[in-house]
Amino acid sequence: MRIAIVSDIHGNRQALEAVLDQIAAAECDAIWCLGDLVGYGADPDVCVELVREHAEICLAGNHDLAVIGALSIDDFSDAAHQAAEWTRATISAETRAFLETLEPADETQAVALYHASPRDPVWEYVLSPLQAELGFEVQSRRIAIVGHTHVALAFHRFEGADTTGETRHADETLDLSTGHWLVNPGSVGQPRDGDARAAWMELDTEAWTAAYRRVEYDIDGAAMAIRGARLPETLAERLRFGQ
Ligand code: ZN
Repeated sequence: MRIAIVSDIHGNRQALEAVLDQIAAAECDAIWCLGDLVGYGADPDVCVELVREHAEICLAGNHDLAVIGALSIDDFSDAAHQAAEWTRATISAETRAFLETLEPADETQAVALYHASPRDPVWEYVLSPLQAELGFEVQSRRIAIVGHTHVALAFHRFEGADTTGETRHADETLDLSTGHWLVNPGSVGQPRDGDARAAWMELDTEAWTAAYRRVEYDIDGAAMAIRGARLPETLAERLRFGQ
């Protein structure tokens, strides 16, 4: 099965639509979403509606949980805090009801899915080989897929070797057939790895490969929508830089 993995959409309608078009063109069999459908961007309702329509699996991210009041926003940065409050006041009852059904992990598939990490599915940012290694000890499958950092990267450990990992670029393909893996597709709606294009990943559970994908989208449109909603200017500005 070829599965499109999307994560960290953050209310960016322009990015999500571009990614869904590319996924449709790639004729993937299913779409799985790793959470953070809302927060930061100006179109939370549309993004939730699109994910509901297209994704077979959807996790909850920390921003989704914050918006429904299941997680405190005290630890959020200023901009994230403001965006969470704006989103909470803006979303429809239907969007809210859907977000309330989501969980931050799904361990029922051939790969383990977590919004953030195997150790802490809601909050841990896995950016180092040590964190990945600690995750390998607790993840319920040989391969884990996580979002949350907004950085396309992969860590792996082969039998008898140390854990290593690095950021990954568009059209790189991982051979997942052996070893332990912790893989992050990057972010649809707010990339932070220096590549401003929307990120997603194509996972093949027969060949056991994962290919990193990036797609251009209407960044100006997404930034204008953020300004129109009177969300913090930094949230509009950073999209151009992928930071
Ligand atoms: Zn996120």
